[in-house]
Amino acid sequence: MSAATERALRRDIVETSLEMERLGINQGTSGNVSARLGDGFLITPSGVPARELREDSIVWLSLDVADDADVLREKRPSSEWRIHRDILRARQEMHAVVHTHSIAATAMAIHGRDIPALHYMVGAAGGDSIRCAPYALFGTQLLSDHALAALQDRRACLLAHHGVVALGVDLARAVWLAHEVEVLARQYLLACQLGAPPLLSGEQMDEVLEKFKTYGRRKEAKH
Ligand code: 13P
Ligand code: ZN
Repeated sequence: MSAATERALRRDIVETSLEMERLGINQGTSGNVSARLGDGFLITPSGVPARELREDSIVWLSLDVADDADVLREKRPSSEWRIHRDILRARQEMHAVVHTHSIAATAMAIHGRDIPALHYMVGAAGGDSIRCAPYALFGTQLLSDHALAALQDRRACLLAHHGVVALGVDLARAVWLAHEVEVLARQYLLACQLGAPPLLSGEQMDEVLEKFKTYGRRKEAKH
């Protein structure tokens, strides 16, 4: 891994944190961002607002990091380093993880509710619902265990009384999905004002998931 690649990824993480604030899905010191780098990952520091982040404040951790004693350094990684480590370990095809406390999605998570198949875009997270993981204290292994279970066959989940986790093959896709989860939660809450909304059936969602396999992929140019 070249120094230039690492520097570019550090810059990308800072930009991603600022973008999440611009999108209105994070503010203050809420949320965190990570991206795979070599046999470890780069992660935002704990308790630093996005606009105060610098490339050098981003922390590198090994995927083998095991406890707080290992990670305590001058620059503290996000208190949610276990969630990022465990996802990047378990999901080899994913290279970026973002966590937000976005308002509408968190409102649903306060009720411990999954986001059901209200709209076909629920399929963007990989299934016919976006699960809500049970509550556990922030920064704990239990919270990470709950998140990983809720992410089974999915690229996003809610965390009860807390927020959202979204994954991507890169940072841009992870943020896009975190924003999409927020949009779906807003649509759900608004639709609920007219009564319990009708949902797409399992069959309809299967069809969506099948179509997503090729959605947005350009045909190879003929030579
Ligand atoms: P950090 O500042 O430690 O990343 O914590 C923010 C957060 O959202 C904890 O769940
Ligand atoms: Zn959080």
